Amino acid sequence: MEKKNIDWGNLGFGYMETEKRFVSHYKDGAWDEGELTSDSNVVINECACVLQYAQTCFEGLKAYTTENGHIVMFRPDLNAERMANTAKRLCMASFPEDKFIEAVHKVVEANAEYVPPYGSGATLYVRPYMFGSNAVIGVKPADEYQFRVFVTPVGPYFKGGAKPITLRVCDYDRAAPHGTGHVKAGLNYAMSLYAGMDAHAQGYDENMYLDAATRTKVEETGGANFIFVTRDQKVVTPKSATILPSITRRSLMYVAKEYLGLEVEEREVYLSELEDMAECGLCGTAAVISPVGKVVDHGKEICFPSGMEEMGPITKKLYDTLTGIQMGRIEAPEGWIHRIC
Ligand SMILES: *Cc1c(COP(=O)(O)O)cnc(C)c1O
Repeated sequence: MEKKNIDWGNLGFGYMETEKRFVSHYKDGAWDEGELTSDSNVVINECACVLQYAQTCFEGLKAYTTENGHIVMFRPDLNAERMANTAKRLCMASFPEDKFIEAVHKVVEANAEYVPPYGSGATLYVRPYMFGSNAVIGVKPADEYQFRVFVTPVGPYFKGGAKPITLRVCDYDRAAPHGTGHVKAGLNYAMSLYAGMDAHAQGYDENMYLDAATRTKVEETGGANFIFVTRDQKVVTPKSATILPSITRRSLMYVAKEYLGLEVEEREVYLSELEDMAECGLCGTAAVISPVGKVVDHGKEICFPSGMEEMGPITKKLYDTLTGIQMGRIEAPEGWIHRIC
């Protein structure tokens, strides 16, 4: 297979149209077989439920080339499961989990020329999504849906090394108690745009959201979960019913315990504890871990001892181990690596 002539090392995180995508339709209570198509446009009615009432959800995962030349994906079964949970919360028809894995597999396979080579730092981002497609004007769930998957090559997240970022404690909330913070709904992102733009305008990289009920506990950022390392080398992640269960975070907690022999804790983390933490990182599919150097709480700077130049030592070990597992340099736990070819 001939790879596309793309400058992999200089790709950003943007959309590039590729050859094939998958589409399946839900109608009269059932999903059709689904198929690969070359048409990248979606044509729906002006009154489609997704356009009027935001009935849409998505997933994000990656395909990449391992050290010995296989194209693989990382734990797609967990994306399938999470999308089914999201669909349920949004009253959408859920797409069967085995069919989900088949669909992402097919799309990556059909676009193999776009999977960046090993060592380039780039990956193929896979975006499954679903939306209510028939006309709905009185508020209710749609009864027709489209499930789709497209892929787009994305560049190395950290060009020239992972520089720690600065967060601000945000006065806007991301998720309400008993709301939709725990599911991957497009609506969670729509309402975070304002706070995100505001943070950027003020010179911060991201928002740190607190729990909406008491505003004392750390939740997550708009698109990544937190992990902290305490001064006695415990790996701690916030526990909350309104956090999106990141697959990267869950994998890192496993790696911390089983590969690095560290103590791990999932518990409530108070904002007031941050000063005692040694390291902080954001985890998600895009970057695996982005190190956080500083959190600004209404003018008060909380600087982690790991500093603004590089990842903290434990964060680095976690990052190296998980990316080693993903790239086939370190043996993976059973079932973590889904091989395409
Ligand atoms: C997708 C997402 C994450 C990261 O999840 P991964 O499965 O690790 O990619 C974290 N927080 C939010 C709000 C998300 O939407």
